[in-house]
Amino acid sequence: MIIVLKPNCTVEQLNHFTEGLKHDYDVKVNTWVGTQSTVLGLIGDTSAIDIDYIAAQDFVESVKRVQEPYKKANRKFHPDNTVITLPGGQKIGDGSLSIIAGPCSVETEDQICEVAERVKTAGAQFLRGGAFKPRTSPYAFQGLKADGLELLREARKKTGLPIVTEIMSAAHLPLFEDVDIIQVGARNMQNFELLKELGKIRKPILLKRGLSSTIEELLMSAEYIMAGGNDQVILCERGIRTYETYTRNTLDISAVPILKRLSHLPVIVDPSHASGIAWLVEPLAMAAVAAGADGLIIEVHNNPAKALSDGAQSLTPDQFDHVAKRVFTAAKLLRTEG
Ligand code: PEP
Ligand code: MN
Repeated sequence: MIIVLKPNCTVEQLNHFTEGLKHDYDVKVNTWVGTQSTVLGLIGDTSAIDIDYIAAQDFVESVKRVQEPYKKANRKFHPDNTVITLPGGQKIGDGSLSIIAGPCSVETEDQICEVAERVKTAGAQFLRGGAFKPRTSPYAFQGLKADGLELLREARKKTGLPIVTEIMSAAHLPLFEDVDIIQVGARNMQNFELLKELGKIRKPILLKRGLSSTIEELLMSAEYIMAGGNDQVILCERGIRTYETYTRNTLDISAVPILKRLSHLPVIVDPSHASGIAWLVEPLAMAAVAAGADGLIIEVHNNPAKALSDGAQSLTPDQFDHVAKRVFTAAKLLRTEG
């Protein structure tokens, strides 16, 4: 961290400030006294320093971070890729292409079990399905809640696929005890109390990027979970809000290589919520694979026209068969070429 002090900063202020920094944080302070201004270079762990507090001091001209504010999610301190391994042996981030597929919402036993069988046959290794649904309208279908989780368990029993489902409140955690991967949706990416609770458990967390969040904010949210001791975080790029209205969101494809560079955590892409349109899922999924994503999360419904949520972006099982073939072929080709 570089701090430039104003020319009117007194020696007493300078000494008091630098001693305070050394006392409060695990940092060394190098001081360069110039004719016009004094510059401080902080070396060490600056992640806990509140940059806004520093900037607000009346003798401070400017302050700049030269190191990212996240530590545990940072590739600098953990050069090897994190590989998430489930008790059943399924992996995310090991170089293979992981696919999580299933309906937006769990609706009935027949629906979830039929979709589960079909996506498994097509090669998906994980089953998704929402039981607690974050909906813009309070009058829209809110999910089957605990009953939906029970149906997911039923589908897991039938297919062996691990289940991925969204949590909306820390108060629901006891219901999620045997969920294999807990999803934090875009709307809860900065629900810090929820993230802290998820840091206390030892289970993979699929963390989706917020609608208007920067890459750094996503990584800081991952840091919240990891700071609590849970280092099994999977990052998900699911599109962000832009001025474009053709698509539901805009897939930030560059986030994939950027996240892979900044962090050691696996990165997956959700082409369904990124586009909101079923026919766009295939090209966006292909782009994600080409950009180096570790996996995909794709919405599939046995009858999209009758889906209780997100029907317009849901693939039929036949369409998913086709997309899965294409993305697995692309992954194989791209990854063997190195
Ligand atoms: C979902 O996965 O169904 C969902 C609500 O996703 P997001 O949080 O990305 O909108
Ligand atoms: Mn959805």
